[in-house]
Amino acid sequence: MGERHIFVRFEACHMACAYCDEVDKKSVEMSVADILKEVVRLEKKSGPHACVSLTGGEPLLYADFLKRLCPELKKEKFRILLETSGVLWQQLSRIVGACDIIAMDLKLSSVTRQKEFLEDHRKFLKLAKRKEVYIKVVVSKKVDLCEYDEHLRMVAQVAPHTPVFLQPAYVTGRGAPASARRPMCCGKGVYPDPALMRFLDELQRTGAKRLSDVRVGIQLQKLMNIR
Ligand code: SF4
Repeated sequence: MGERHIFVRFEACHMACAYCDEVDKKSVEMSVADILKEVVRLEKKSGPHACVSLTGGEPLLYADFLKRLCPELKKEKFRILLETSGVLWQQLSRIVGACDIIAMDLKLSSVTRQKEFLEDHRKFLKLAKRKEVYIKVVVSKKVDLCEYDEHLRMVAQVAPHTPVFLQPAYVTGRGAPASARRPMCCGKGVYPDPALMRFLDELQRTGAKRLSDVRVGIQLQKLMNIR
């Protein structure tokens, strides 16, 4: 949080989380050479950046492309951060060696309103822990505490010292009421929701009984109105 990153954002996702704010964003087609040129330009213009962040959507849907892109970024001495839903472990196995940091989600079905991915997350974390890894859990007031604890127990079994960030959901997109589908900032008192922050306190205390490093992570870009 707070570092300068260059974001390479990939279109589309295999999931449909209720809180997703990436739906319907326009994209342009770019080659490996196009991306490299743009990343180098941005680094010169506004660097130094701590990382090139491969994000989405779901970047692992493009594993073949990443296999070609990552070595080119490494030649230019960039650190590579992969941000992912933490589900597509077969695809990760093909590019894990090229990543420096892996930021994986734990998707709680009580929040995403999608199916559960506990066993996929377990396989994913086993691979990801070869690298620097941290976990993000998007939470809302709908968190099922049994499901939450089951997921943290899995992390405790596989990689107990992994930092886990509890991130309050930014309610917009598919799951939001029409009135919420607009930019929100702390000045308008909407993000983060104060009632959810109190619940976060409970989630963090519960989590700290399972794991050594459970933190609250706010979406800084929302507070700073950065798109
Ligand atoms: S994994 Fe991320 S990009 Fe995909 S639907 Fe969920 S929130 Fe959106």
